[in-house]
Amino acid sequence: MTITYSYGQNLYVNTTNRCDMHCDFCLRQNGDGVGEADSLWLAREPSKEEIWADIQRRDLTAFRELVFCGYGEPTYRLHDILWVCDRVRESSDIAIRMDTNGHGNLIWGEDVTPLFAGRFDTVSISLNARDKETYDRRCAPEYENSYEAMLDFARRVKEQVPRVILSVVDCIGPEEIEDCRRICAELGVEYRVRVYGT
Ligand code: SF4
Repeated sequence: MTITYSYGQNLYVNTTNRCDMHCDFCLRQNGDGVGEADSLWLAREPSKEEIWADIQRRDLTAFRELVFCGYGEPTYRLHDILWVCDRVRESSDIAIRMDTNGHGNLIWGEDVTPLFAGRFDTVSISLNARDKETYDRRCAPEYENSYEAMLDFARRVKEQVPRVILSVVDCIGPEEIEDCRRICAELGVEYRVRVYGT
């Protein structure tokens, strides 16, 4: 079971395979692993203690960021991840990031963004599309109003952590890439165009 894996300069943490979306471009459709990890499919979800033990086996000074990401939506494991973040903060200065689809408030049925304060340096949210219709078609979210909820999550978490990034993949085309850039400027968050497949 791969819980942590290195990719580039970062150490990634794989906590769940659950996800409430079915994105056209999901990396999970193209292969089983990323970086040094042969397979990120989990036979079962690791406990918070197992996640922390796996991180402790690593030399965190060798990495730029600790990133909760993996093959699923990490906010399904939010409370376990928060516990792990607290253990990391007690023993390391490493920057902590979460890569999320921004549906944490939908998944938990309440505003969980205050819990990010002090735990995360960066939250990177998949914007994925310039409007709800495109988002619903491209990502097939299981919750209604997921697009609006994702933008609301971005607005709220921006008040809690130093850095918020909204991202798209470059295969959506130049016009939509520019429309998404405007959305980020209006929200006052960073914008990142990711190369598809990374
Ligand atoms: S939100 Fe992420 S993990 Fe879920 S289907 Fe989309 S790309 Fe895949």
